[in-house]
Amino acid sequence: MRAKMRVKRRTPSGKILFHQRRERPSHAKCANCKSQLHGISRKIPSEFKKLSASEKGPERPYGGYLCSSCTRELFREKARGV
Ligand SMILES: [Zn+2]
Repeated sequence: MRAKMRVKRRTPSGKILFHQRRERPSHAKCANCKSQLHGISRKIPSEFKKLSASEKGPERPYGGYLCSSCTRELFREKARGV
């Protein structure tokens, strides 16, 4: 089971309760070099669905799959015709 995170919530009567929240998922990683990808929101899937397209990840080919340097290298190889 996925780890839970405790959050303090005060009820209208003043009672302090701990609610259980699902923890944020880990960072997205590059499929090639496994480095951390930037520009991708760390939200649980139900929250992630509500984001706009530009908040979900870089809007370029292989955005959210490969890091920028690996994408650059891939395009160079494609242009060389290897
Ligand atoms: Zn990479």
